[in-house]
Amino acid sequence: MEKYTLLIMQIANNSVVSIQYTLKNSEGTIIDQSSEGNPLTYLHGHRNIIPGLENALLDKSIGDALDVSIEPEQAYGTVNPALIQEVPKEHFQGVEALEVGMRFQASTEQGPVPVVVTQVADDVVTVDGNHPLAGQTLNFSVKVEAIREASEEELAHGHIHQSGGCCGGGGDNSEGGSCGCS
Ligand code: ZN
Repeated sequence: MEKYTLLIMQIANNSVVSIQYTLKNSEGTIIDQSSEGNPLTYLHGHRNIIPGLENALLDKSIGDALDVSIEPEQAYGTVNPALIQEVPKEHFQGVEALEVGMRFQASTEQGPVPVVVTQVADDVVTVDGNHPLAGQTLNFSVKVEAIREASEEELAHGHIHQSGGCCGGGGDNSEGGSCGCS
């Protein structure tokens, strides 16, 4: 039998990467994390994760662990004041017990935008269409668990296929594209 030659894969564009991660905000509170046995798997170089994290993972190998602090510009963007608006309360007719934290779809010229209620006054309601993590510096602790090369089909679609199927695994495939999955 021939001796093995080990190739240590490094993360590059078109790598399919699985990571375990913990995400903390600037106060040190955990706001998201992967669960044991269920890593986040993504296609590198296709903007499927935030740019700051993607940049930090380039050239890393299986087993590498890193802590990275990512400014809003490289994460979910800065807060856009134009997305915070006051809406007459009468627009919420039919909503019982309107309160802060409720989520709605607002229709705009650019299409539907998810908004969250941030303030309820007597006759106006303030809603915010910014991403919930906009304006936040994100602190990730990441460990690289697996790296493999993407399939032709995955590259054509720009996202990973898990569980043997297109768009399997419950990832965010909202863009649809040529995927053909319902
Ligand atoms: Zn697909």
